[in-house]
Amino acid sequence: MLLTVLAVTSVDAGTSTKRRWELCYTQFVDRVFKFPDGFLWGATTSAHQVEGGNRNDWTEWEQANAERLAREAASKFSHLQNWPEIRVQAEDPANYISGRACDHYYRFREDFDIAKQLGHNAHRFSIEWSRIEPEEGRFDEVEIEHYREVIAALRERGMEPFVTLWHYTLPLWVRDQRRWENKKTIQDFIRYTRYVVGRLKDVVRFWIPLNEPSIYAGMAYAIGVFPPQVRSYRRTRKVLGYLSRAHALAYASIHELQKEAKVGSSYNLHWHEPSRKKSPLDRLAVRVLDAVRDGSQLRGAERYNDFLGLNYYFRDRIRVVAGGGRFGLVDIRNPNEWVSDRGWDIAPEGIYRALQKLKRFRLPIYVTENGIADARDKNRVAFIRKHLTWLAKAMQEGIDVRGYLYWSLLDNFEWDNGFWPRFGLVEVDYKTLQRRIRPSALEYKKIIEANAIDV
Ligand code: BGC
Repeated sequence: MLLTVLAVTSVDAGTSTKRRWELCYTQFVDRVFKFPDGFLWGATTSAHQVEGGNRNDWTEWEQANAERLAREAASKFSHLQNWPEIRVQAEDPANYISGRACDHYYRFREDFDIAKQLGHNAHRFSIEWSRIEPEEGRFDEVEIEHYREVIAALRERGMEPFVTLWHYTLPLWVRDQRRWENKKTIQDFIRYTRYVVGRLKDVVRFWIPLNEPSIYAGMAYAIGVFPPQVRSYRRTRKVLGYLSRAHALAYASIHELQKEAKVGSSYNLHWHEPSRKKSPLDRLAVRVLDAVRDGSQLRGAERYNDFLGLNYYFRDRIRVVAGGGRFGLVDIRNPNEWVSDRGWDIAPEGIYRALQKLKRFRLPIYVTENGIADARDKNRVAFIRKHLTWLAKAMQEGIDVRGYLYWSLLDNFEWDNGFWPRFGLVEVDYKTLQRRIRPSALEYKKIIEANAIDV
């Protein structure tokens, strides 16, 4: 009883008394955590990764780089356990051309039928800027109509749309003006945002202007694996600065056009742990990386967000080395006890840690991505369950999480890795474009139907 009273009082002050008692009941009696009524469940996709038929800066980059990416595959992936299984695909240049992808542009209704059948009541997707504004200042009515139909299809199936306005790809004319390194791109993005929001504000409530600016800037301008493949600290900072400005202005513009809109960021957060628990150097490196990778993107998060989106995937164990580490004197040394097909160190507790980083902003949180590349579907159920158990723990402690969107509804085009990583709840046969529901998707459905998870 004493424990229960202590727990009731330790829950966040914003939580109602009834909900506090419910939380304590689950914690100490029932061992089943009930998610609140109205909790949103679903999955995420992004335009370029599933639609097919795009023409943007990525499609041109793919054409120019597919041969190279195929040649480099062995040096990048042959350490993976599943290398014998992925080798043929990873060494084939065709793997790196998005082409018709999942043909979701034409098959969205069929895909949403599946999502509905899987119990989803929310879905996040992105609008492709290069379709809406293929030339500077020329907006395509047919394309905006297409996305109206996409949203209508979601609503007809009882799914709440979360609309991302930019998920990494850019129109060719924006590429030609130096992408996000040009201040003008901010204004252009705002004009595009105003156009889209003006047309869709009657059917969309949740907007995410930019997907994971920190990952984009890091991959494209620091590590140099996404187009335009730059490695410059100065240019990374510049792009990050402009993206952050673009988000703030988009926030203001959307609210000007649609007062009741809910606008949020999608942050990719990490769980850094010292590789040697007692090493003061490793611990110091963790603090530095936490500040550089996560702290910097979260600065000011309370100002231009109505909600926070969390994308969480894996943990990095950090070790200070004599030199030659991933970040100079700092390296990532994962034990690889439980890894995804991509070799990512799976650590469900990380979602709890990430949520704690967001807690202080006192804003509603939606998990806007969390998923695993798992072609054989051997680990996906445990992955989802364990992440949800940690998510439940965060909620029991009063963190206001209101939805969970798995990455991804479909297998899709994984950027510079091409098609071989399989993240989907639904498997896509890229030859026939047939969809097959993976068993894990049905387990996820059971959780959704129960609106509860064992803790
Ligand atoms: C990105 C997705 C990507 C996923 C898995 C996320 O950071 O937003 O586009 O597919 O990671 O790699």
